Amino acid sequence: MADPATDLLRFIDAAPHPAHAAAALANELRAAGFSELAADQPWALAPGRFLVRRHASLIAFVLRGRALRRFHLVAAHTDSPNLRLKPRAPFAAEGCLQLAVEVYGGALRNSWLDRDLGLAGVVQRRDGSAVLIDLRRPLARVPQLAIHLDRTINDDGLKLNPQTHLAPIWGLSEGRDAGHEFAVMIAQAAGCAGEDILAHDLALYDLCPATVGGVRGELIFAGRLDNLMSCHAGAGALIAAADGEPGTVPVLACFDHEEVGSDSEAGAGGAFLGQVLERIGLAAGFGREDHFAALARSLLLSADMAHAVHPNYADRHEPRHRPLLGQGPVLKSNVNQRYATSAATAAAVRALAASAGIAVQDFVARSDLGCGSTVGPITAARLGIAVADVGAPLLSMHSARECAATADVAPYAALLTAHLRG
Ligand code: ZN
Repeated sequence: MADPATDLLRFIDAAPHPAHAAAALANELRAAGFSELAADQPWALAPGRFLVRRHASLIAFVLRGRALRRFHLVAAHTDSPNLRLKPRAPFAAEGCLQLAVEVYGGALRNSWLDRDLGLAGVVQRRDGSAVLIDLRRPLARVPQLAIHLDRTINDDGLKLNPQTHLAPIWGLSEGRDAGHEFAVMIAQAAGCAGEDILAHDLALYDLCPATVGGVRGELIFAGRLDNLMSCHAGAGALIAAADGEPGTVPVLACFDHEEVGSDSEAGAGGAFLGQVLERIGLAAGFGREDHFAALARSLLLSADMAHAVHPNYADRHEPRHRPLLGQGPVLKSNVNQRYATSAATAAAVRALAASAGIAVQDFVARSDLGCGSTVGPITAARLGIAVADVGAPLLSMHSARECAATADVAPYAALLTAHLRG
């Protein structure tokens, strides 16, 4: 098997869209002996199980014995900010073929300019089936306006209107019907006729492969590190933790829709995780009383990326809480509950890290800056369980191309493994 950082690069390249991320996770789990459960069938429990909801959210768990005392969970997210196609996406303007897009999540819009873009996602066919497609070729580009036509940009900054400035070009119209051209292209990828495609969820993505960079390979340059790095670490941790403490059920939840607030059927704000946990207990022959007692003993680590201090903008960090790239996992705290970490769960994470020989860094946002959030507070509120927010240091969060450190890959996975082992 490749070293963890190289394996992470492979995983990111295989996951241009959240549905591909869930599919890649399912493949890793299947290869490790996990089998898939269906939500609409009774559950026969086996040691390693997983299920997928709405293509892009996945929950996996390991039942080690019949004594269910508690859950140890890791929660991450499969989605990243990007450009998504609108239902009637193709059109022609000024001799160019274009695509109407919506901005998904809090994207750094400028990072999508002048990149070679592929197109990937889910296509829904007339026969009721869905198929994942991936047009992995330089199909589209959002061309930046020439500086000669925008003289003030370097002094006044770049302002991009999401409706009017981000529609990519994907060819020349030359009198052709943009809708027909698009339908033929998508149908070919989906293996059916154009008229048999009823709907799609497609995203543009940067074709530049994930790579190791820096003078000694210290850095990772890639799209979607937020939060595929945590999904990848979590899956590796769950597989490695299969032989842990028998009364603890390790659970990995990789949710879609974190970047848009998590309130959906498949998101962390929905019923998905709560239902899965309760069904594990029911299938193992436990009652509701046992279930709530198990939840009271449980701990969830919300695994999401953390802001590494940027050397050009060090003043944007709280002076005594500045995570450095390459210095290990980060414990994130916020008294206003943008992160769910409490003193008790922080202590649990520090003890866990110490037992695994891992150094932990601390992040708190500056008091005069707002703070981002994660699925941590949402799952804590939804399930009524103890949660700590952890992450790995990252630069350029929400850019189409982010930057992490190679040295942070292994300790992050080791921390999650120690937790899931119980
Ligand atoms: Zn994130």
